[in-house]
Amino acid sequence: MSAPRRRVAIVGAGPAGAYAAGQLLASRQRPEVDLFERLPTPWGLLRGGVAPDHQEIKALDKLFEEEVMRPGCRFFGNVELGTDITHDDLLRHYSAVIYAVGAQTDKSLGIEGEDLPGSLPATDFVGWYNGHPDRRALAPDLNVRRAVIIGNGNVAADVARVLTRDVTELERTDIADHALAALRESTIEEVVVLGRRGPAQAAFTNAELRELGHMDGVGLRVAPEEIELDALSQEWLDGEASFTARQNVKLLSEFAQRPAGDAARRIELRFLRSPVAILGDARVEAIEVARNELYRDDGGAIRARSTEGVETIECGLILRSVGYRAVPLPGVPFDERNYVLPNERGRVLDAASGRPAPGVYAVGWIKRGPTGILGTNKRDAAETVACLIEDLDAGAVPDPPHAGAASIDALLAERKPGHVTFDGWRAIDRHEVDRGRTDDRPRVKLSDPDELIAAAGG
Ligand code: NAP
Repeated sequence: MSAPRRRVAIVGAGPAGAYAAGQLLASRQRPEVDLFERLPTPWGLLRGGVAPDHQEIKALDKLFEEEVMRPGCRFFGNVELGTDITHDDLLRHYSAVIYAVGAQTDKSLGIEGEDLPGSLPATDFVGWYNGHPDRRALAPDLNVRRAVIIGNGNVAADVARVLTRDVTELERTDIADHALAALRESTIEEVVVLGRRGPAQAAFTNAELRELGHMDGVGLRVAPEEIELDALSQEWLDGEASFTARQNVKLLSEFAQRPAGDAARRIELRFLRSPVAILGDARVEAIEVARNELYRDDGGAIRARSTEGVETIECGLILRSVGYRAVPLPGVPFDERNYVLPNERGRVLDAASGRPAPGVYAVGWIKRGPTGILGTNKRDAAETVACLIEDLDAGAVPDPPHAGAASIDALLAERKPGHVTFDGWRAIDRHEVDRGRTDDRPRVKLSDPDELIAAAGG
């Protein structure tokens, strides 16, 4: 008689968790996988992060459906770690637990006025236009003329596009209805994107920067003086700079040579600027911005520091797009300096001994920090899954006291009777896709948790 299949819990059903689940199910050991998710819906940032005008990326959900929603894998949506189920519960029921919870909050700037109405984390704005249940009530005021985005990574590019794109283009996407309604009434004409370092250090990837320069009805402005390279950047570009950085500089030079044009809406890129204070009585009215210069720190990294010059930019909306940040998980070791689970190739390290904690693993942003594009998670998951399989083979993972699937079912029946299964998600999916049919949209999302649960049949 063959040994019973081992059972693995994955916490977080975003791209990293989905890749890990698919790879485990396809592995030689073929463990059974239970996928736990705080929201009633799977696929994490694919649904709640990727911008609605990037539907071709969102189509990755078909791959996840194929690779993950198959025999041997179950979904427990609407189940929250720490509230409905604990780390210890998972260790008692599974041979291994993989954390794939991503980075749940945003980095703050620590400047005066940061919390004035009208100043928002870009990550909240992203959740709002994507119908994330936690952000549906955000109601940003778009009845302003100029918005300023702080940071120049791909999230900044996403929000700059969504703020300026012709609404008729968004009407055919899965953007949340509340966002579509607000964008129809938006009076925003100009979005200024501020990078704290120079053009060579912009965090955009090439495709995202190129796209900003090729939007119908939107002018991209890059003043030639903004992209003059200082000696340090020039030396860096001639030497160790990445291909992405070189291409970005080329693209920016092309954009800077374009005539100003008379587009109704504009995106303007500025560099070497750091926010100093956000000004306004009852809400955002302006932002004070310092001029920066670049220097190498003791470790050789190129950093920005402020110089004397300060300018004021009038604006009514500020989106702080300076990166995501992970939060500690109850009962799981956490690296407070790097905001990740301390790990070696995905094996989570015990806080006291510094050695791998048997049966505990990490993938995605909670493992490596909030970097890389969606596809990066495939490689990342492969590394963790390989370590897990190696540990299973070597007998380095203890058998849990309650190994059978029935005992976790009994626990959840008691703790979270309203959890959502893959059948529940299929029902939500059908409902949303049906709602989209009349308007030729891929889906019309539900964002109210009660409506989602009801649509799941719970
Ligand atoms: P990101 O790429 O790390 O960019 C963060 C930006 O914030 C950088 O420009 C950074 O400047 C700046 N910043 C950080 N702290 C700051 C401060 N105190 N003051 C001023 N500026 C500050 O992060 P992200 O845009 O949130 O994206 C997260 C990850 O998701 C990235 O890997 C991104 O590529 C990925 N993503 C991909 C897509 C896509 O593929 N289309 C879409 C969205 C997101 P410094 O460089 O100087 O630190």
